[in-house]
Amino acid sequence: MTLGGNVREGEPISAINGCSYGHEMVTSGARCPVRGVRAPGTRVVLLSVMSTILAPSTTPTEPVVAAPRTYLVKTLGCQMNVHDSEHMAGMLEQAGYVPASAQDAADEAADVIVINTCAVRENASAKLYGNLGRLAGTKRERPGMQIAVGGCLAQKDRTGIVERAPWVDVVFGTHNLDVLPVLLERARHNEAAQVEIAESLQVFPSTLPTRRESVYAGWVSISVGCNNTCTFCIVPHLRGKERDRRPGEILAEVEALVAAGAVEVTLLGQNVNSYGVEFGDRGAFAKLLRAVGAVPGIERVRFTSPHPAAFTDDVIDAMASTPTVMPQLHMPLQSGSDRILRAMRRSYRSEKFLGILDRVRERMPEAAITTDIIVGFPGETEEDFVETLRVVEASRFASAFTFQYSPRPGTPAFDLPDQLPKAVVQERYERLHALQQRISLEENRKQVGRVVEVLVAETEGRKDDATARLTGRAADNRLVHFAVPAGRTPRPGDLVTVEVTHAAPHHLVADGATFEVRRTRAGDAWEARSSVQADDEGHGHGGGCGTPGPAGPVVLGLPTTRR
Ligand code: SF4
Repeated sequence: MTLGGNVREGEPISAINGCSYGHEMVTSGARCPVRGVRAPGTRVVLLSVMSTILAPSTTPTEPVVAAPRTYLVKTLGCQMNVHDSEHMAGMLEQAGYVPASAQDAADEAADVIVINTCAVRENASAKLYGNLGRLAGTKRERPGMQIAVGGCLAQKDRTGIVERAPWVDVVFGTHNLDVLPVLLERARHNEAAQVEIAESLQVFPSTLPTRRESVYAGWVSISVGCNNTCTFCIVPHLRGKERDRRPGEILAEVEALVAAGAVEVTLLGQNVNSYGVEFGDRGAFAKLLRAVGAVPGIERVRFTSPHPAAFTDDVIDAMASTPTVMPQLHMPLQSGSDRILRAMRRSYRSEKFLGILDRVRERMPEAAITTDIIVGFPGETEEDFVETLRVVEASRFASAFTFQYSPRPGTPAFDLPDQLPKAVVQERYERLHALQQRISLEENRKQVGRVVEVLVAETEGRKDDATARLTGRAADNRLVHFAVPAGRTPRPGDLVTVEVTHAAPHHLVADGATFEVRRTRAGDAWEARSSVQADDEGHGHGGGCGTPGPAGPVVLGLPTTRR
């Protein structure tokens, strides 16, 4: 369907995630773009993505070599989007683009900037248009620069994005990530914006090339879409019905990740414990957890997010009896009021929710449980809110993502009467936040004196340089900042054993004498990747283009078997 000028809307697409939002991340390697030399490990650079023609050679017969175009993917939203951004980066690299340098990424000075959007929170839309407004100026100063918008807001707003921001070159949806390189090329050729949105899943994202940000931990999608109808959530509208991958495909991807050095995987889905609904196996998620946990070489298995309505004891059994499945559970509560849960169309009630937590803790007393809570759903009374406070007090969450309800056009709750005044929502939000801060601190203080194993991360601690500590995640996913004895610095991907000496609501500190390093395959892989990168820079890739950083190889997508 043609929607005006050269803006075209294709068939529709799908998929989103709804449970932890609001983060802004940048997917970019820190490698310098290769000026005039093809980067090792990248595929043959297509002429179509080269824009910068170098100065003509003094030798008339020497071919003119163009630099590959650089890219930057900015991610707004949840883990599903973070993983989708890895696919976008993989496709762009396969098409010949190279990651913007760290400096160019910070300056938003890439030749192609892709914004992978979120539609779940109202401020996600404000963030997108704020980003686009800023980029309009950058684009004026960079001839040939292209801007692409993908993700859930693209799926929702479609041509509205180019109407509101006519300097955008490409809009693509959640169901057709694969069209990104082609649309960029077509927009350049036609000198007109390209909009393609599909209404149902065209390509399972896991089949696409992937450039993984981390060598030691990876996301693995087990399903996309959601069959539930929570009234505040736009996910089913944008991501469609649940589509499950076959267990064999998931295991093959986990095995490939492990072979590349990863020791941790996180299984991703809108509603992971309904996994199997598409092929009629209600016990499929528990079986999958056991199978993934048994992959040789895997050390840590996590998953997000489950749904309390369908969370069954076989999953708790699988978690408790599979040593590699971590003692951590993110279980979205949303409200503690049964009346509001009904209005949200969430089919569990608070007592069922608390019963799940009891049974999890019975089998895994050390489990850290986290949650999502919405404050100020339409019609929420003070009594309803007090119920939420009661359930939060009883649940003893390690931490909670708390949100003020914001009406989202396209959701059933948007049209509900009794939308609450902002001041009321704000006041309740602050009370809930204060309660959860107290509980988080109390629960974290119980960790002081415990010896924990931490997977060393590459970039998690913002103050690490100032505090001379490194950072990683304990088995229960708590953030731990730890001191490093002189000369014993571990590598990202290694595991360290430390004693917790101090607690804060959102992190632990381990400055004690206990310090053991277990060097892992993941640490080896991180080191190997770093040295390849250093070699690249030694051969002319670094030249003043910013700080070296991670740049994983592009892994080809896994084929889908016939269903
Ligand atoms: Fe949205 Fe509810 Fe599905 Fe979660 S379970 S993605 S909140 S509809």
